[in-house]
Amino acid sequence: MSADLTPALPADIFQMIFEKSPGSLLVRGDAPCFTIVAVSDAYLEITSSKRETILGRGFCEVFPDDKAPYDDTNARNVFTKVVETRQKIDVPTYRFDVYDQETDTYEIRYWSCCNTPILGVDDEVAYILNTVVDITAEVRAKQAAIENEGRLRLATEAAHMATWDLGLRDHSFISSPRMAEIFGLPADKPVSREELQRYVDADDMKYVVLPAYRMALHTGNYLYEVKIYRPDGELRWIKTQGIVIYDSERNNREKAPVRMLGTVIDITDSKRDEVRKNDFIAMASHELKTPLTSIKAYIQILAKRLSGSGDGFVTNTLFRASNQVDRMTDLIHGFLDLSRLESGKLQLKPSDFDITTLIDETIAEFRLLNPGYTILFDPDCRLTIKADSEKIGQVIGNFLSNALKYSDKEYPITVKCGREDDNLKVSVTDMGIGIRPKDQARVFQRFYRVESEKMRNISGFGIGLYLASEIIHRHKGEIGLESEEGKGSTFYFKLPILE
Ligand code: ADP
Repeated sequence: MSADLTPALPADIFQMIFEKSPGSLLVRGDAPCFTIVAVSDAYLEITSSKRETILGRGFCEVFPDDKAPYDDTNARNVFTKVVETRQKIDVPTYRFDVYDQETDTYEIRYWSCCNTPILGVDDEVAYILNTVVDITAEVRAKQAAIENEGRLRLATEAAHMATWDLGLRDHSFISSPRMAEIFGLPADKPVSREELQRYVDADDMKYVVLPAYRMALHTGNYLYEVKIYRPDGELRWIKTQGIVIYDSERNNREKAPVRMLGTVIDITDSKRDEVRKNDFIAMASHELKTPLTSIKAYIQILAKRLSGSGDGFVTNTLFRASNQVDRMTDLIHGFLDLSRLESGKLQLKPSDFDITTLIDETIAEFRLLNPGYTILFDPDCRLTIKADSEKIGQVIGNFLSNALKYSDKEYPITVKCGREDDNLKVSVTDMGIGIRPKDQARVFQRFYRVESEKMRNISGFGIGLYLASEIIHRHKGEIGLESEEGKGSTFYFKLPILE
């Protein structure tokens, strides 16, 4: 055995070191007095006391506290327990207000302390080392967070909002009681995600919820509106909004989604208002159709009569007038389609047709009306599909007209068409203004238009893509986009090929 050759510290040096240590106090184990033997400067400062007035006096006499005698954070009780058990006792949080002589008031303070027994030769507790740390700032921060959480909960409750949190790795799902209420389920029981999804309209689940989920993983934003059928059979509309939280440890390029969280609100009442609004739009559009058809006919008669007159100004003006009438007619048809869609009256007329021919025809029309733009189309193969050719033509037309609207003449627009597994995929790519991730999930919503400086001078109503997505969903297909702001966009749809 090797002897410890370190010389013992002289008592006065030891005393000096102790006095410079952070919040420390040494008391004798002489319960119930607990005489103070040594105290550090820091301890004196935090308790606003002086060494000469407390040394040699009992702890409970110097720091009397008015807490209940059985309180286990009370110093007297803790010291007594240390003496009885000869074990170290930690008090993680307790309140001890500090007297401020200047203002003659007590300041609220929170502490964390550790009470270590030092045993004497008789194995009894000779001293107790009491070390304290001021944790007021941490406690205040925690209290503020709890208060904020409470306020946030009150705000979401006031807005009749349900909140949810979905773990993407372990598939854990937590929702507020309001969620069950919206779904017509008992609010006092937790509900699982699978249970809630059972009440979502089957088509909405497949063509709205799942694509929105896939898109959210890509864009970071989750958003959709769907119908639900409550257990009592009542139809309700809900709107879900959320964001994706990514693994912060990975770098930005390959960030992995770990959680999704957001809100759900019942939008049934506003949907009913929309139905009324739709009825009005349908009526107005219908009434506008007849005079517009007449104007078009009159223009055509005039154009025919004057075609041989040699008056270039007149024929040119009539051509322009005819184009404007066509634009208006398209718009009115859009509104009519919209209201038919909303009232469930949009009927598909499927037939077998060659998609490549349809794309060729649509492009030819656009080239004629938009000279100066370059539209490239080089199909991989010829494919026959069964669908409503007029409506699919409308979707391609919408993609093309947007590509023209939101890009410059000097950049080409590329149309592609090919097979992808059991699907036909048609895409239109432009090198235009592009769309920010936060807007990408929204452009398929009714009347949604991106708000930006670049959009200010481009007209539109934000119904084209909504109609396109409804048409594709009704064909049991998928619609989507890939885009980067300032670089361009690719809009695509996929339709099942039935062989
Ligand atoms: P509209 O173009 O008439 O406003 P759409 O429903 O066709 O309506 O498009 C909705 C919105 O999506 C547009 O207002 C625009 O902000 C955005 N958008 C659509 N296509 C593109 C595109 N190719 N490039 C950039 N933004 C686009």
